[in-house]
Amino acid sequence: MTFSNLSQYFEKLEATSKRLELIDILSRLFKESNAEEIGKICYLIQGRVAPFFEPTELGMAESLVAQAIAMAYGPTSPRLRGVKSPKDEVIKLYRQLGNMGLAAEELSKAKRLKTKAISVTGVFNELHKIAKFTGKGTVEQKVTTLANILKSLDPISAKHVVNIPLGTLRLGIGDHTVMDALSLAKIGDKTLRPILEDAYNKTSDLGYVAEMFFKHGEKGLKEVKLVVGKPVRPALAERMPNAEEAVKRLGDTFAAEPKFDGFRVAVHKNGNEIKLFSRNLEDTTHAFPDLVEGAKTQIKAKSCILEGEAIAYNPVTEEFLPFQETTKRRRKYNIEEKAKELPLILFTFDVLYLNGEDVTAKPYKERRKLLESIVSADHSVVRIAEERILHTAGEITKFFNEEISEGLEGLMLKKLDAPYKAGGRGFHWIKFKRSQSGELTDTVDCVLLGVFSGRGKRTAFGVGGLLVGVYDEKNDSFPTISRLGTGLTDVEFREVNEISKKLKVSHKPARVISKIEPGFWVEPKVVMEIFADEITKSPIHTAGEENGVGFALRFPRLVKFRESDKRAEDATTVEEIKKLYEQQYKHKKS
Ligand code: AMP
Repeated sequence: MTFSNLSQYFEKLEATSKRLELIDILSRLFKESNAEEIGKICYLIQGRVAPFFEPTELGMAESLVAQAIAMAYGPTSPRLRGVKSPKDEVIKLYRQLGNMGLAAEELSKAKRLKTKAISVTGVFNELHKIAKFTGKGTVEQKVTTLANILKSLDPISAKHVVNIPLGTLRLGIGDHTVMDALSLAKIGDKTLRPILEDAYNKTSDLGYVAEMFFKHGEKGLKEVKLVVGKPVRPALAERMPNAEEAVKRLGDTFAAEPKFDGFRVAVHKNGNEIKLFSRNLEDTTHAFPDLVEGAKTQIKAKSCILEGEAIAYNPVTEEFLPFQETTKRRRKYNIEEKAKELPLILFTFDVLYLNGEDVTAKPYKERRKLLESIVSADHSVVRIAEERILHTAGEITKFFNEEISEGLEGLMLKKLDAPYKAGGRGFHWIKFKRSQSGELTDTVDCVLLGVFSGRGKRTAFGVGGLLVGVYDEKNDSFPTISRLGTGLTDVEFREVNEISKKLKVSHKPARVISKIEPGFWVEPKVVMEIFADEITKSPIHTAGEENGVGFALRFPRLVKFRESDKRAEDATTVEEIKKLYEQQYKHKKS
C-alpha cells in the first residue's frame, strides 16, 4: 500500500467520531493491507512507529519539524522562497492555522516537485530511522530525513506525516476498535475479537498481534505466548461490598495477601538482563536501579516474568511509608540519590513466565509454589508477599485490621485454582481497601476528559473544574460521570494544568460520550482516583445511560492521580459503577 493511500484513510478516520464508522473504515483499510505491512499500519494509525511500551520517540518538537518543512518546501514554495528565515515563516503559518500538519499541507500544495508513490513500509522505516539516530549530528539527520520524506509526499500525506513526530496525529482510535476492525476485515464479523484480545493482553503489542493474525490466522493468535520484554497487561482486581460476599465468590478456602499501597512493577528477567514495566506498561527500568540490581541477584531463575508491588520503607524504623512518599521515587532526575533516601522493597505476588514456559494457565496455588522456589521472604529488596490461607469472613476482617494497623492499604483475596488472567477482571482477585473513614468502601478511578476554565483564584492555574468519565468496556468509550472542582490542592491544580495543556485537543475525542461541553477537551489518558459520598442518577451524565439518565458521583474529591499507573481503559467500568450503585442501594435499604 502506498502512504498516499493510507493518508486518504486517515482523512476519512479524522472526519468521523462514530465508533461503528471508525471500525468500518478501518476494516476496509485492513482488507487492502498485506501481512508485511499490517503491523506497521496498526502503529501508524495510533501515531506511533513502535508499540506503546517501546520508548521509541521521534524526538522532534515543533521547531525541528518546522525546520524540516522549510527545508522540504523552501526552494519551491512561493511563500518561503526568498524570505529571511523560512523556518520562522513556517512557524507563523502554523500559528495561523493551529496545526503543523495543515501548514505542511498548504506549503506542499504550492510546490512543484513530482511526488513518488512511496510505500507505507518506506515511510515507516524512515520515521523509525529518525527515532534511532544517536550521537553527533543527530538533529541535522532527523531534520534532513523528515524533509526528504516530505519531498516525496503529496499534500495530504505531508499533513499526516508531520503530526507523527509531534504526537498530534489524534485519530482517537482505541485498541478495541482496531481489534474489532481486524476481525471484521478477515472474517466479515467481529467474533474473533476475544481471541485477538487474549493475544494482545499477553503481549501488549497490537502490531505484533495483527501481523501474527494476518500471517497465521486464528490458529496463530491462539499460539501467541508471553514474551520476556513485552509487557503483559495486568490482571485486575474486583471489589465486593463485604467479606461475606467475597467468601461466596471465593469458596471456603482462599488465599489472602496484604494489599501494599505502592506501585505495581512487572520484572522481566532474561539472564542478567532486567526490564521493569509499570502498571501502565511503560518501561521504567532506568528509574529504579535498586530494583534492577535486586532482581539480578535475588531472583533465582534464568528467565522469568514476575509481578509485585514496590513500596518505600524506612530502614531505620522498618516501617512502610505512605503512597505519597513512595511515589516520590517516580522521577526522571536524581534517581540514584532518591534511591538511597527512599529505598524500595518489591513484594512479588505472582509469576507468569518461568524458564521458557508461559505459566499463566496454571492455578494460582501452583504459581505461588513456583514463586516461592525463586524468591525468598528474607529482608532483601525482592521479597515475596506474605500469604495466608483463609476460610471465613471473620478471618478476612481480622487480617484486614492487622494490615491496616501496619499502614497498608488492605487485602487482596485470591482464588486458589484460578489462572492468571492477563488484562482481565474475573473475580479471581478481590480487593478490600481502606477508605478514608476506615470502612470497607472503595474509590472510583475516573478518566480526565475535559477542563473548565478557572475563575477567581484559579484563573492563575488555567483550570477551574474538571469533567471526568469512566470506561464503557462494551462500547470502548468514555462516558462522563462527574464534574470535579473541590478537593484539589493548589499544587494539584497546577499539575492538572500542566497535564491538560499537553493533552488538549481541538474537538471532542472520538470515544468520549458527553452531553456537557467543557472549556476544552483532552485526550482520555489520565486516570484519577476519586472518592465520592454516593453514586446517584443524573440526566446530565452519560455513564450507563438509560432513558436519558446516567450515573453520577455525589461530592467527588480527588484522592490521587494515577497518571503513570493506570491506562484510561483500566479505569473503573460502567459495569462496576452499576454494581456499586446497586450494592449501595441494598445497604441503604437494610
Ligand atoms: P486497585 O489499583 O485499587 O484496583 O488495586 C489493584 C492493585 O493493587 C494492583 O494493580 C497492584 O498494583 C496492587 N497490589 C498491592 N498488593 C497486591 C497483592 N498482594 N496482589 C495483587 N496486587 C496488589
